[in-house]
Amino acid sequence: MIKVQDYRPQPFTDFTQPENVQAYQEALKKVRAELVGKHYPLIINGERVDTAERLTSLNPCDTSEVVGTTAKATIEDAERALQGAWDAFESWKKWDMDARARILLKAAAILKRRRLEACALMSIEVGKNYAEADVEVAEAIDFLEYYARSAMKYAGFGAAETTWFEGEENGLLYLPLGVGVSISPWNFPCAIFIGMAAAPIVAGNCVIAKPAEDSGLIAGFMVDIMLEAGLPAGVLQFLPGVGKEVGEYLTTHAKTRFITFTGSRAVGLHINEVAAKTMPGQKWIKKVILELGGKDAMIVDETADLEVAVTAAAQGAFGFNGQKCSAMSRLIVVDEVYDAVVGQFVERAKALKIGTGEENANVTAVVNQMSYDKISGYLDLAPQEGKVLLGGQPLGEVNGKQGYYIQPTIVGDVDAHARIAQEEIFGPVVSVLRARDWEHALEIANATEYGLTGGVISNKRERLEQARHEFEAGNLYFNRKITGAIVGVQPFGGYYMSGTDSKAGGPDYLANFLQLKSVTERW
Ligand code: NAD
Repeated sequence: MIKVQDYRPQPFTDFTQPENVQAYQEALKKVRAELVGKHYPLIINGERVDTAERLTSLNPCDTSEVVGTTAKATIEDAERALQGAWDAFESWKKWDMDARARILLKAAAILKRRRLEACALMSIEVGKNYAEADVEVAEAIDFLEYYARSAMKYAGFGAAETTWFEGEENGLLYLPLGVGVSISPWNFPCAIFIGMAAAPIVAGNCVIAKPAEDSGLIAGFMVDIMLEAGLPAGVLQFLPGVGKEVGEYLTTHAKTRFITFTGSRAVGLHINEVAAKTMPGQKWIKKVILELGGKDAMIVDETADLEVAVTAAAQGAFGFNGQKCSAMSRLIVVDEVYDAVVGQFVERAKALKIGTGEENANVTAVVNQMSYDKISGYLDLAPQEGKVLLGGQPLGEVNGKQGYYIQPTIVGDVDAHARIAQEEIFGPVVSVLRARDWEHALEIANATEYGLTGGVISNKRERLEQARHEFEAGNLYFNRKITGAIVGVQPFGGYYMSGTDSKAGGPDYLANFLQLKSVTERW
C-alpha cells in the first residue's frame, strides 16, 4: 500500500492577486525561451525517434508563429510501438500496484513544480487564458494523484468481495488487459492526454498515446515528466501522428486490446465500428471506451436568481471560447423571465475582451483553420435560424494579430430542432431557446441525441428533484455553471451519443482497463 494522505483536489490559482499574474508572465517568458521552437520526437521503447515528416503546432492567436514541431509517426513506427509495448507488458504487469502508483505520484510532484510552465505552454499552443490553463493543469495533477490512490483497491487476490463457500477458498483477481491505444483531443491537451494514459498504465497496461495534431508539444512535455518519474521503457509509447493514418492503423490492429478515445462523435463512432471488426489473428474482443461531444443545455426558470443564472451562462458558454465538451451551447429560458435573462446575458457577454491567451483575454482564438471555418459556417446559418443578439462574425484579426478569432455570439429565439440547437458547434456560439414553462424547458433540454452535461437554475425544490432523475445528462449541475468538473468530485462522462459514460476521475474508472479472474481452490 502507498502511504499518502487522502486525495484532495489541487486548489486553483487566484489571478486577482498581482503576484500570481506576474509569476504567470515570467513563466511565459521562460517557456518562450526554452520550449517554443522545440521539436519533440516520437518515443518508442524509451528511445527518441525522429521522422522524415513533422507536425507543426501553430499559435492559434497569432498564426504567423510556429510554436514547435513533433515527429509524425508512420505506420512502421506504429507497428514497432505496438510490438515494443507488448514486450514491455510482460514485466510491467508483474509490478506491484503500489510501485506503479508511486510513479504517478512522483509525476504529480514534478508537475506541481512545473505547473506554471505547463500552463504557459498551453496559452501559447492552444490559446488558453490563465485561469483556463491553470484549472487544466490542476486537473492533470488530480488525475495522477487520484488514479494512484484508486489503484490500491484493485490490488491483490480478494480485492473484490465474493461470498464465503464451505470447503473452498474463492477470490477475484483484477488483471490488466494488455496493450491499448489512447487517442486524445486538443481541447484538454494536458489533463485528458495524461489522464487517459495514466489510468490504464497504473492498472498494469501499456499504452500507445497519440495526441491531437494541434497540441503535440504539451503532450511531449507531459510524457517527459512520466519518464522522469521512472516509467520503464515501452510502457508509454509517445506517437504523435495523423489520426486517419496511425490512429486508424492502431484502432484496427489485431494486437490492440483496448482503445480509449476522447474526441468528436463522428470519429468516435467510426472507431467503434472499425474496432468491432475482428482482424485475422485477433484473439479478443476489443474493449472500446469513448467519450464524445455534447450539445449541453442549461435551463433558467421563473424562480431563478438572475445573477446566478447570468454568471453561470457566461462562464459555461464562453470559457475557453466554448471549446469544451461540457460548454453550455443551449440556454433554455422560461418565457416569463426570457427577456430579463437574455438581456443581462447579452450585456455580460458584451464585456468579454477578445485577445490572446498570453494577454489573458476572456475570449481567445479557436484552435485551427478547420474549427474557424466550421464555426463560420454556423454563423452564416444563425440569422436564418434565430435572431442574432450579439456577435455573429468571424474576426481574422484582433489587435493586429492574425488568428482564428470568433466573436462571442448569442442567437435568440432558436427553434429546439434547428441545426444550431442540435449540432455541436464547438465555439463561442450560444442558441437561446424560449420555453413556455418548466415542463416544456425540460422537454427541450432532453430533445437531443447527446447527453453530456446539463444544468438547472431554479429555486423550486420539486423541479430540482425532478431534474435529478429526468434531465438526461451524465453530469448535471444545479445553480452553478455546467463546466469545470473536478477529479473525484464530479466524475465525468456522458450518455447516449456523448459516449460510454466511463466517468473519468470516478471511483470505478480504472475498472475499464482491468479484467476479473475468479480463482477457486477446493480444500
Ligand atoms: P477529433 O475527433 O477530431 O480528434 C480526436 C483525436 O482523434 C485526435 O487525436 C485525432 O488525431 C484522432 N483521430 C481522427 N481521426 C481518427 C481515426 N480515423 N482513427 C483514429 N483516430 C483518429 O476531436 P477534436 O477536434 O480533437 O476534439 C474535439 C471533440 O472532442 C469535441 O467533439 C468535444 O466535445 C470532444 N471532447 C469530449 C470530451 C468528453 O469527455 N466527452 C472531452 C473533450 C473533448
